[in-house]
Amino acid sequence: MASLAVSRPAIDDLPSASIADQVAAIARKELAPLVLEIDEGTTYPDVLLKRLGDAGAWGSHQPINGTADLRCAIQSIAALGEVCGATAFMAWCQSTLVWYASNSSNPKLVAKFAGKFASGEMLGGTGLSNPMKNFFGIEKLKLKGRKVEGGYIVRGALPWVSNLGADHFFGTIFEREDEGGGIVMFLADCANPAITLQPCKPFLAMDGTGTYAVQFRDMFVSDELILAEPAGPFVKKIRAGFILLQAGMALGLIKDCIQIMDEVEAPLGHVNRYLPQQPVQFRELHAEFEKETMALARDPYNSDDSYWRRVVALRLRLGDASVAAAHAAMLHCGARGYLKSHRAQRRLREAYFVAIVTPATKQLRKMLAGDEH
Ligand SMILES: Cc1cc2nc3c(=O)[nH]c(=O)nc-3n(C[C@H](O)[C@H](O)[C@H](O)COP(=O)(O)OP(=O)(O)OC[C@H]3O[C@@H](n4cnc5c(N)ncnc54)[C@H](O)[C@@H]3O)c2cc1C
Repeated sequence: MASLAVSRPAIDDLPSASIADQVAAIARKELAPLVLEIDEGTTYPDVLLKRLGDAGAWGSHQPINGTADLRCAIQSIAALGEVCGATAFMAWCQSTLVWYASNSSNPKLVAKFAGKFASGEMLGGTGLSNPMKNFFGIEKLKLKGRKVEGGYIVRGALPWVSNLGADHFFGTIFEREDEGGGIVMFLADCANPAITLQPCKPFLAMDGTGTYAVQFRDMFVSDELILAEPAGPFVKKIRAGFILLQAGMALGLIKDCIQIMDEVEAPLGHVNRYLPQQPVQFRELHAEFEKETMALARDPYNSDDSYWRRVVALRLRLGDASVAAAHAAMLHCGARGYLKSHRAQRRLREAYFVAIVTPATKQLRKMLAGDEH
């Protein structure tokens, strides 16, 4: 199928900086009061996610004439992550869903969904953890499908998919059981009666992210919902964007950990200066990561192996640095940060998620070791 161009203004004409600024303002004014409820899992902030969509948060990275620029999307996710790691993750889910739909070569799917996902009118996420692990020899594919008239029948279960609700969509992949080696990427419609969303047991963090175990009971997936068939070349196209958008989660979190360390400088600096890791080091690291992220984010379709390795190496460092920054923030805060009401402990719990969400630290290390198959 021919590649489709989304009709939007050229990237240079977009008020990208103002989108990230607006997102930052919404994060400070509207997200900050919700953070505790989101962290506790009593609120899934769908209204806020739609509001962010109105501000353009989910649309800036759609491809135009075969090029795409992820910088504004990453900066927007970072602005949310500075306030709330769970919301930054939901922002990644939504942005990744837009990335899938807007890169699809299925004209009917693009026409029906890309704009609605990009505007936030429709919400959803991505179920690519299992396939991403499969491509690097870590897990078997959990979903199976077979061709029928007008589509496929899909069965199987995914243990965790986030940013979901009864009327949400997510992109994922099944293995064809009627054609050896065939894999197909599609949009799953949570409103389909053959899908069950099962709430997960409480997590360490991320409970307000609309995360469910998803079961497919011989669900019919119409041709209109096929993102890519075969899925292999499509995944190669979208995989750098998938990973780079996660950088926003880390950049926002690290920035707030630096702020936490700065906040206790006046009362505790006289003794905190003996700690091995200081805010100045994380400030330098953050600046370096931001520069590398922005450089890579301008060119997400680069198919050079050296580019891919830079993306993977950056992602690994971002996970490590998130945990290190949150750990340092805890040590700088002392008893203040040990209070449940202090955000330092939340940031630590959120930081571990950056390091374990696919591609997790161990997978990234395997990828860099060259064990791709
Ligand atoms: C809060 C949260 C939200 C997530 N959201 C998404 C999402 O939106 N989309 C998505 O695709 N993935 C999602 N994931 C999955 C995530 O990206 C990783 O795949 C996951 O954290 C494990 O990755 P890993 O590489 O460390 O695998 P490992 O944890 O090393 O291995 C994973 C495998 O272990 C098994 N396993 C895990 N937990 C248990 C258990 N309690 N009992 C028995 N077996 C178990 C399962 O078979 C699973 O496939 C989410 C995970 C969490 C915790």
